[in-house]
Amino acid sequence: MYRTHDEPHDGTGRIHPTSGAPLLAARELRKTYARTPALDGASFAIRTGEVVAIMGPSGSGKSTLLHCLAGIIRPDTGTIDYQGRDLATMPDAARSALRRDAFGFVFQFGQLVPELSCLENVALPLRLAGVRRGDAHRTAREWLARLEVDDVGDQRPGEVSGGQGQRVAVARALVTSPRVVFADEPTGALDSLNGERVMRLLTDTARSGDTAVVLVTHESRVAAYSDREVIVRDGRVYDAAVAQ
Ligand code: ADP
Repeated sequence: MYRTHDEPHDGTGRIHPTSGAPLLAARELRKTYARTPALDGASFAIRTGEVVAIMGPSGSGKSTLLHCLAGIIRPDTGTIDYQGRDLATMPDAARSALRRDAFGFVFQFGQLVPELSCLENVALPLRLAGVRRGDAHRTAREWLARLEVDDVGDQRPGEVSGGQGQRVAVARALVTSPRVVFADEPTGALDSLNGERVMRLLTDTARSGDTAVVLVTHESRVAAYSDREVIVRDGRVYDAAVAQ
């Protein structure tokens, strides 16, 4: 039987079994759309450099949890602690700055800007952070090489394959050396060979840079790249690491 995070297992109120302060910790999140409860007391924590897979059936609340953790939406109640600040109550401008400076994002379909070259797409987060064009392009080129897509820099996203586009999207997510990358079904549109390549590059590169990865997936072969899996059911989180 799984034990839920909201039943502290050691009497101290900790929500994760290993020691050390989490980088990002959500407690007792509740979020209701109209009358649909998407999150119903969900708790979650991740540490620096850790890769955690959030799994569960469709409609169970995985994306809502990810969007709360990333400061994209606010929960109705509950706290989301990032380095001593609560994303649930932080003003919008501060949450936007945090998303830009400390977080990276990878979505199912890459969501690259179609009018820009792949190189310009990867350079974009640096340009938005005020890095000069030449420096941003140099760094972006290095990241394209790390993700093994240095040959597509001059092409537009529409001219490259799905697997290449998704590796460009991972390069864009990692180019600012974020503390946390949020990946929502990052391999959902790829065949298994390309999916595994993307997952290997994403997790290897993130771990070597001490970047935490919160990964939403419904595929166990994708979750196999994580250090730990948690399962969301009916808006509540069950952590396999504290299974009884
Ligand atoms: P999952 O990612 O596990 O498929 P979601 O977090 O997307 O689950 O959705 C959880 C529940 O909340 C579902 O019942 C879904 O229909 C509902 N929901 C999610 N987002 C919205 C929204 N923007 N408006 C209304 N209902 C939503």
